[in-house]
Amino acid sequence: MNQQSIQNELNNSLCYTSNYVPLNKQKMSKITNLSSQIEKQLPAGLVTLIQRAGKTAASQGQGLYLVGGVVRDLLLGQTNFDLDLVVEGNAIELAQYLVEINHGKITTHPRFNTAKLQWDKWSVDLATARSETYARPGALPTVTPGSIKNDLFRRDFTINAMAIELNPSRYGELIDLYGGRDDLEHKLIRILHEKSFTDDATRIWRGLRYEQRLDFRLEPTTLKLLKRDIPMLDTISGDRIRYELECILKEERPEKVLHRAEELGVLPKLSSTLKSNGWLTEKFEQARQTNFPNPPPSGLYLALLVYPLTNEETEPLISFLRLPKALAQTIRDTIDIKTKLPALANSELTPSSIYRLLHAYSPQAVTTNSLACESPVARQHIQLFLDKLRYVKPALTGDDLKRMGVAPGPRMKEILQRLHEARLDGKITSKQGEVELIEGWLD
Ligand code: ATP
Ligand code: MG
Repeated sequence: MNQQSIQNELNNSLCYTSNYVPLNKQKMSKITNLSSQIEKQLPAGLVTLIQRAGKTAASQGQGLYLVGGVVRDLLLGQTNFDLDLVVEGNAIELAQYLVEINHGKITTHPRFNTAKLQWDKWSVDLATARSETYARPGALPTVTPGSIKNDLFRRDFTINAMAIELNPSRYGELIDLYGGRDDLEHKLIRILHEKSFTDDATRIWRGLRYEQRLDFRLEPTTLKLLKRDIPMLDTISGDRIRYELECILKEERPEKVLHRAEELGVLPKLSSTLKSNGWLTEKFEQARQTNFPNPPPSGLYLALLVYPLTNEETEPLISFLRLPKALAQTIRDTIDIKTKLPALANSELTPSSIYRLLHAYSPQAVTTNSLACESPVARQHIQLFLDKLRYVKPALTGDDLKRMGVAPGPRMKEILQRLHEARLDGKITSKQGEVELIEGWLD
């Protein structure tokens, strides 16, 4: 296939080429009104808010639109109360005006010309319509004010690039310039132009996330371009990849995304030794059962993902992703505890020895090891620590010991430690027992 025919094939399968030529895929003539879906699926408080916002914007001569994920989910009949509004005009001015009439709270970001409105228990993001260009692959985009059309074109996938008119004269009308609705019907994830993944390779991870969440498929040309552009992930900063990973770990079944990422060769871009296999699926499932009815914390998922790695393999990942201090510590602890597993697998171990082996580590790292370790005995010991031993404390304090004639210093520390051990091993069970034990030692 020569270069021109490859280009033609790409142009035909994507909704738009990179120079914005619309294809016949668009159904601009068909007007769909989603006001009844809005009414049915969004809480009354939010409906009132967007209707008022639409009227206010119209009175100021500005266009206002509901955009992105909420439009997609309204069409899919799925719950999503995260509202994103786009203003053809000035988002901050509109938000300030809305706050005056609604008595809500407003947070503004003048640099990006965006605002967050909080009203009752609802919060809504307002952004000024913009177009984006990329000076080089992976760079943050150069932003200029634009129309809703520009704003939709800068988006990741056709299913996320639809908008709903909020202006009262056209309230509820769907704007679908790139065939998003068709793609929803056919369960397809499709980029808007062939440079999409090159401009911003985080869309590779995003694409896998939506594909797996919605049980869709990457449209064939999108899949081809995604594979072609996997090396472009090297242009993305660790902070942005970390954000995408956090989003994945908040999904209902993150392992599906990780598994697909491995299949396509995306996962090794994170670390060449990471694996998404049956073992991981089983451990993620156990993590969900353990935390039910809450979802597992994303730190626990991450620690399970990196569990098979060595210390030398995790360090570059921790520094590339610039993990927050506490999370980095959890990961380091998780890997370090693995070196204690042979000792923990000894069935003769006393509770105080179990405590000594585990107490210095973050509870999440200990939990990870209880889920991940092979030895049933070690797992039992770790579970005993988590359920009981970590909460055991002597009743007597340093002050009590002082009153009993022990001077503060290393000796007091040692006595307190021995007291703690005696408690852990069940040698004493009451405060009186502790007093008698110490009196015996002092004699
Ligand atoms: P989710 O349900 O995952 O929150 P969402 O569609 O609301 O889905 P967000 O990450 O909240 O996704 O982003 C809001 C919208 O911003 C998206 O629908 C998409 O149109 C656009 N968007 C977000 N990230 C990108 C990106 N990297 N490139 C292009 N458009 C993006
Ligand atoms: Mg969202």
